[in-house]
Amino acid sequence: MTKYYGAIEAGGTKFVCAIGDEQMNIVKRAKFATRRPAETMPEVIEFFKEYPLEKMAIGSFGPIDVNQNSATYGYVTSTPKEGWANYNFLGELKKNFDIDYVWTTDVNVAAYGELKLGAAKGKESVLYLTVGTGVGGGGVINGKLLQGYGHPEMGHIILRRHPEDYYEGNCPYHRDCLEGLAAGPAVEKRHHGQKAVTIPSDNPDWEIEAYYLAQACLDYTLVLSPEMIVFGGGVMHQEHLFEKMRASFSEQMKDYVKTPALDEYIVHAQLGDDAGLTGCLLLAMDK
Ligand code: ADP
Ligand code: ZN
Repeated sequence: MTKYYGAIEAGGTKFVCAIGDEQMNIVKRAKFATRRPAETMPEVIEFFKEYPLEKMAIGSFGPIDVNQNSATYGYVTSTPKEGWANYNFLGELKKNFDIDYVWTTDVNVAAYGELKLGAAKGKESVLYLTVGTGVGGGGVINGKLLQGYGHPEMGHIILRRHPEDYYEGNCPYHRDCLEGLAAGPAVEKRHHGQKAVTIPSDNPDWEIEAYYLAQACLDYTLVLSPEMIVFGGGVMHQEHLFEKMRASFSEQMKDYVKTPALDEYIVHAQLGDDAGLTGCLLLAMDK
């Protein structure tokens, strides 16, 4: 009897759902726009009814409650997305499918995918950072998803400011945290509203961007000692940023701790759009 596993990559704009078998063949896949839970969840549930599932893994946008001792375990917590704040996401699935679940963040799942089948294949520890509309980060350390009382919010660390950066930052909570200074919208606002994709690679604003991302890598390195830091997200389509980040990392770290060679340490994601689903299926299968 073939065993089937469920995967949900729950994003702020779309839900990607898949059913896979033990060989990672995807037998069914669909996308649903993220509207209110009352509209989106019935579609998701209907999707999974066709096959009997062993287990399901969900990588969700957040913040979410991942604390198994909490009364609101499985909830999406403080999102501004209409209808999703304090929503019992996992509970709604459990009502319909009485199976085991893996419940974690979208970025933890992407980290897991990259570790098992992507840029960090063969390693035990990896961090995954996405730099897009926001900055999010997750990780796997010694084979385990990085979560505890809560889950990491690596995009909101506070940084030392670049001496030539006069942009005030745009995080609604912290103003000039990493996300407030380095996510796509911050890059564009710093550059007077110009689309990030059109800013030439030799513009000094990219040095500022690389400085912040490198500083984040430095902080993560000092706290977590991962074997690799993998970057994805729209802004990272600027391939030149990788060399700039490595140079800035080196300058800021001043050789204080040893890391792998930087071109094998600060690297681009390999799984692209598939990282989430791949990670979910692997987690559901516990592979
Ligand atoms: P999301 O974070 O919403 O999932 P993306 O990862 O595509 O989506 O991030 C969108 C952001 O990335 C936008 O702010 C956009 O300016 C920026 N972006 C997208 N493509 C590029 C590019 N080629 N170069 C630089 N920035 C980009
Ligand atoms: Zn913030």
